[in-house]
Amino acid sequence: MPRKTKLVVTLGPATESEEAIAKLLDGGANVFRLNMSHAPHDVAKLAAKRVRKLAADRQLHAAVLFDLTGPSIRTGDVETPHELKTGDLVEFRKSTSEPSIDISTTVNYDGLMDDVSEGKILVVDNGTLLMEIRSRQDDRIVCEVKNNGTLGSRRHINLPGTRLNLPALTDKDRKDLALAVECDADYIAGSFVRDGAHVRELRDAIEALEGNAQIVAKIEDQEAVKHIDDIIRASDAIMIARGDLGIEVDYWELPILQRRIVKRCHELGKRVIVATQLLESMIENPTPTRAEVTDVSNAAYEEADALMLSGETSIGAHPHRCLEALVKISTRIERSGGLGYGKDSQLRDERQKTAQAAVTLVDSLPDARLIVLTRRGVMANHTAMLRPRTSDFYAFAPTERVCRQLALSRSIQAFHVPFAATIDETIQRSIERLRERDLVRPGTPLVIVSDILSDHFTANSILLHHA
Ligand code: PEP
Repeated sequence: MPRKTKLVVTLGPATESEEAIAKLLDGGANVFRLNMSHAPHDVAKLAAKRVRKLAADRQLHAAVLFDLTGPSIRTGDVETPHELKTGDLVEFRKSTSEPSIDISTTVNYDGLMDDVSEGKILVVDNGTLLMEIRSRQDDRIVCEVKNNGTLGSRRHINLPGTRLNLPALTDKDRKDLALAVECDADYIAGSFVRDGAHVRELRDAIEALEGNAQIVAKIEDQEAVKHIDDIIRASDAIMIARGDLGIEVDYWELPILQRRIVKRCHELGKRVIVATQLLESMIENPTPTRAEVTDVSNAAYEEADALMLSGETSIGAHPHRCLEALVKISTRIERSGGLGYGKDSQLRDERQKTAQAAVTLVDSLPDARLIVLTRRGVMANHTAMLRPRTSDFYAFAPTERVCRQLALSRSIQAFHVPFAATIDETIQRSIERLRERDLVRPGTPLVIVSDILSDHFTANSILLHHA
């Protein structure tokens, strides 16, 4: 049975080589993420090129996703890491100010002092260090360390519950965006997206560069959760970025938020990725913990479009084993059924209702195949959002780009087929492609859905045909 859950892998030092990328493609990776917080431009460019070439060699459609750093706060460079003890005082200052106490570092955001107040908690380096703000001046804050730990260079700072007045796109993001467009990225992910306006700003910036990438909005703080509907509506897909989100909200809220966001994405018809720490222990170990297996199973059971590996594949010791673990766990869960939020999808127009009718039909016919002819991928995504039970779900699109972008969509196996002058011919070409790959036998029922099934006018239609 083909796998429905799509898999996103993050490339990094452990997986940038041709051999490693080829192995990830062969192992079932669908989307390749370049994390611009870490990847230098020359490395990202080469990796994107390799993914494209190696996927084309294999006649696979894999998408490339550039993940922007976004408006996040980082400490400056320190010559040697500071070993901190509970009760120590640490200063964070503007880049133009001089240190006033022994342990002092700059921050990359000069507005920090205006956005925070005394008594607020700073979470540094993914929760490894907690600090409380003791005093605030125009150009610095001094914090008391709450647990022993190490403060290194360019560590990420979270301020749970504080609205930061950082711009939606930093200068670095704009440079990274230009690179992503130059590399013809299929997806661009916006980090620390706060509301729909932030997503629209990103879309305008992509359009101004004449890019074609779709937008993944990363939900990683309380502001984003507050504006979740607005963000989902403005985006093409959502990433539940559990790394930062798990710091920015009380950790016991995280499973509830995950489920709520997955459900809302189903209702509003947008794709959703569950990301971060799915197999964290496998950065070092060859097998997952039992808790990780259960976490991955849960995300697959929720019928997310995709699951994402970060450090596991970018710097981990066992990137290919991690991918294999996701393949095994998700296919096993798919056999036992899912949560079924697809039935809650809000059908807003006739096209979506046509897709619903096609899904009902295909799921009622034994051994039937679902085929969507889709120019821009919209009809295919509407159909996928309804979570058909069949895993024999094929989309035919006239461009490689649409096929690559469908690599993120649950269940869809995309084929590039130039659309012919007549619909009959396009259907015949599509069926021929399935026959070549032994995906249909003579007599197999085919439910074909499209909004272009007429030679003379656009019509939402369903056709029941036999191969
Ligand atoms: C996350 O915080 O979960 C995430 C995916 O973001 P990043 O790894 O880019 O910080």
